[in-house]
Amino acid sequence: MVRLRPVLSTLPSYVPGRTVPGAIKLASNEVPYPPLPSVLERITAAAAGMNRYPDNASTALTDAIAARAGVDAAQVAIGCGSVSLCTQLVQAVADADDEVVYAWRSFEAYPIIAAVSGASSVQVPLHDHTHDLDEMAARITGKTRLVFVCNPNNPTGTVVHRDELLRFLRAVPEDVVVCLDEAYREFVRDNAVPDGLTLLDAHPNLVVLRTFSKAYGLAGLRVGYAVAADPALAAALRQTQVPFAVTTVAQEAALASLEPAAEKELLERVDELVAERTRVADALRAQGWEIPPTEANFVWFPLGDATADFAAGCEARGLIVRAFAGVGARVTIGTRDENERLLAATAELRPVVTGAV
Ligand code: PMP
Repeated sequence: MVRLRPVLSTLPSYVPGRTVPGAIKLASNEVPYPPLPSVLERITAAAAGMNRYPDNASTALTDAIAARAGVDAAQVAIGCGSVSLCTQLVQAVADADDEVVYAWRSFEAYPIIAAVSGASSVQVPLHDHTHDLDEMAARITGKTRLVFVCNPNNPTGTVVHRDELLRFLRAVPEDVVVCLDEAYREFVRDNAVPDGLTLLDAHPNLVVLRTFSKAYGLAGLRVGYAVAADPALAAALRQTQVPFAVTTVAQEAALASLEPAAEKELLERVDELVAERTRVADALRAQGWEIPPTEANFVWFPLGDATADFAAGCEARGLIVRAFAGVGARVTIGTRDENERLLAATAELRPVVTGAV
């Protein structure tokens, strides 16, 4: 028998949103639209060179991101999805038994990443489905090396505002890294939510994560980026990267998505999804569901013990949602037709889930 690390037997497994043939998948916060023709063209051309390894430094994409963010290229690291950068970050800053602080419930990869790297997780319960930043600051100890702040938060969609985030950043010691995970940034319309990139100048321990998986529709290609206030941290992210993890096709797709015409079209799609988010959340509340305010491309149903029944009821109606047993269900905003299907299902499920029938 091979000998595996004991931590693996206690690890929560990452449960990806399920894909069920014929069903509408609202489980993984992807955008529902197909790739743009211009992006497909560019990756098809790039695929012709796949006998060669990719540019390990993702030079062109790094430069493009740096120029847009108004930072030095040395502050940027490209990753195989931003989840990979979360992992590299823990590997870069936390030794065994160091602590990683994050809200809970938040992005389900955080506990897995911390455990695999040997670091200890400090999970700070959400308050009103939202990060409790004061409590998170209070939980920082001499062992804390990293704090994740997921804004908007996955799976609740809730946000932290500029004032409270700045207060939190002031409270965190300068040698503790704060990672602002902004995977859903493009869906934010609340002006009180700061753009993390604007906070880098004043906060040397801050790193911001973004991804091409959500708003830019490249989830299947795996490309995201980090912008760190401190170039030494970005360099550490490059050091902890698996060599050649970001494929040429992924790099080219990201670059193609940043072309002005393509990006305009992609962000118009995001506007459509944001309008649908408002419509769906309002309609759900009118049906009687508690839906916390959301600034992401999903809504959260805090259903507790009724979660499994709700998810099964959705699945029976051809809709796959993401259930967190005993806690709640996260449902991604889809096309208008898909959302109509959701609203029809939730109207039927409302009495079932509340025990009214
Ligand atoms: N951060 C958050 C908060 C997420 O929800 C996700 C995707 N579910 C990621 C990071 C990772 O996205 P990716 O690796 O596709 O960039």
